[in-house]
Amino acid sequence: MSEELWQKYYGQPNPIYGNKRQYGMLLDLNKCLGCHTCTIACKTTWTDGPGQENMYWNSVNTKPYGEYPRQDANAPDGLDYENSNLYQDVPKGVYPDLWQFYLPRPCNHCSRPACLPACPTQAIYKNDDGIVLIDEDLCQGYKNCIKACPYDKIYFNQVTKKSQKCIMCFPLIEKGEEPQCVKSCVGKIRVFGDLMDPNSAISRLIRDPSLGAKAYDPEIQFKAVTRYMTDADRRQYRADFGTIPSLWYILPKNVPEEELEKYFGGAMRGLIGQPHTPEARLKYKKT
Ligand code: SF4
Ligand code: SF4
Repeated sequence: MSEELWQKYYGQPNPIYGNKRQYGMLLDLNKCLGCHTCTIACKTTWTDGPGQENMYWNSVNTKPYGEYPRQDANAPDGLDYENSNLYQDVPKGVYPDLWQFYLPRPCNHCSRPACLPACPTQAIYKNDDGIVLIDEDLCQGYKNCIKACPYDKIYFNQVTKKSQKCIMCFPLIEKGEEPQCVKSCVGKIRVFGDLMDPNSAISRLIRDPSLGAKAYDPEIQFKAVTRYMTDADRRQYRADFGTIPSLWYILPKNVPEEELEKYFGGAMRGLIGQPHTPEARLKYKKT
């Protein structure tokens, strides 16, 4: 990790929004079980109002996504809907070189959120902790934010006619607690903290992966971090969108580099200090 680049993005208050803290997460994709406990913990905590039946602020995507529905030559329309879920989690590759992983994705609480300037009524703002929130009293339901977010992380409530999104459990954070998806995570894959605090576990772990080897040292208290972290990069998902996501991932092992490039390639290479060559950009465009 280039310390210079880290300082550029996290070493000072956000130059546009002024927040002096930027809460974020580091998620170890080697340890995600795809159990969706995080999704349910979030949903049961915050999405109990009118029109929120179909909302999922935290999603967990299967990569690669399997065949859905699968072809069935005997079915009237040639598709097997009866067993459709059965084929979603299908690894890619040829044995023994198989790969698959789960990708948990709440809102990225971006440092330069695309959703925020898209709102014509200024309902979206970043709070002092860097959390991107929607003031539902100001939201007029124009849906511009939904179109603007490249991560598809804003939902439109058809009953209240308001946009809604992950709030990073800010009421819990203000009480000194961690977000529900972090507390409930079965695989203990999530490290939560302030990216702008140079001494926080999350910023130290992203900047210095060798600390991962001491994950179980009680003095360091990095309780949720993999032993294998020294071997993996820490990257943001689709950082090429240019919004500076506050969610970071420890990349899954055994996934071919060209596949990782699809999900974690592009501009993040610049952020972690690797050169942005014309060849690399061309390669990324093709995927
Ligand atoms: S992920 Fe989307 S909704 Fe969340 S802050 Fe970034 S642009 Fe906005
Ligand atoms: S609770 Fe943890 S292990 Fe389970 S899907 Fe969510 S992030 Fe993955």
